[in-house]
Amino acid sequence: MTLAAATTIVFADRVRRARHALASAGADVLLVSVGSDLPYLTGYEAMPLERLTMLVVPRDGDATLVIPRLEAPRVVAQPGVFTMLTWGETDDPVAIVSTLVAAPAVAAIGDTMWARFLVDLLPLWQGTRYVRSNLVMNELRMRKDAAEVAALQAAGAAADRVAAQLHAGEIALVGRTEAAVSADISARLIAEGHDKVNFAIVAAGENAASPHHHAGDRVIREGEIVLTDFGGTMAGYCSDITRCVYTGEPSAEIAEAYAVLHEAQAAGVAAGVVGAPCQEVDRASRRIIAAAGFGDYFVHRTGHGIGMEAHEDPYMVEGNELPLAAGHAFSVEPGIYIPGRWGMRLEDIVVATNDGPLALNHANHALVAL
Ligand code: ZN
Ligand code: ZN
Ligand code: ZN
Repeated sequence: MTLAAATTIVFADRVRRARHALASAGADVLLVSVGSDLPYLTGYEAMPLERLTMLVVPRDGDATLVIPRLEAPRVVAQPGVFTMLTWGETDDPVAIVSTLVAAPAVAAIGDTMWARFLVDLLPLWQGTRYVRSNLVMNELRMRKDAAEVAALQAAGAAADRVAAQLHAGEIALVGRTEAAVSADISARLIAEGHDKVNFAIVAAGENAASPHHHAGDRVIREGEIVLTDFGGTMAGYCSDITRCVYTGEPSAEIAEAYAVLHEAQAAGVAAGVVGAPCQEVDRASRRIIAAAGFGDYFVHRTGHGIGMEAHEDPYMVEGNELPLAAGHAFSVEPGIYIPGRWGMRLEDIVVATNDGPLALNHANHALVAL
């Protein structure tokens, strides 16, 4: 993986800030493995396999990357950020980790690390209390720096180009299965510069009423809504966009509902200002949909954070009072879903900045008739 924001200076600064956050959280050591925290801090992404790769960051001390010997050649050295400690096939890597730091009082452990490594570590460090690495890493990871915003912007622009192809009628719909259109969209995401596709939802007609519908062998017909929600990872950062099109001329019912959705989505974007609680973004979209009588049909939160992961903190949901800060990146994606009949959603990625909400998607927001 090539990380967009990758320089040794950036990684050194992130590890320094992680140490600072460790101290604030009252933890003595940070342990991260499979997942995004590791590449965020080092540029190296662990193989999601049974051999342990783990970055050990003591609060006062040098960071060590414990890594299988056979995978060491993939690591790009970051002098001053971490040293590498390789282990062989007959070594016990968890025991090695346990000797790097004397039994800590509190260890912050990677949210997405495999449970087997923690289970093996438990008897080796007696009396250690564990907290989720999230407690240490969230504050860092949520606030995207300029290079990260640029990476999200580039991924968003690539997704926008695929949406533009959809709107231009270049992606055939009627007569094809949802799965075929999903494969077509996926290939276009790669062609536009993504390294991998994370999802490509295509939901036609009544299937669009299921927000996370899995594209299947349902054939797309004339005179129905087609919801597409797709995204991938490009240079380490994610895209995520939803656009709906109509195969023919939408009925008055659909057109009026879509006008409500469009207004609600724009209001959600406009609410994404620095200092506003995350729940305000949700409320801004939801109150418009509820006022139009569709409140019971908007069945999910309005948005999620996005970065190295397609879904990460902060979440735009009622009850989240976290104030938006410059650099917070998130989706605004209200939807209306009428079970058994139709569904619609409209989604852009937005970054909160000191100059106001910065939308990263600019593809046509209308319900384009094809
Ligand atoms: Zn989406
Ligand atoms: Zn999304
Ligand atoms: Zn719009």
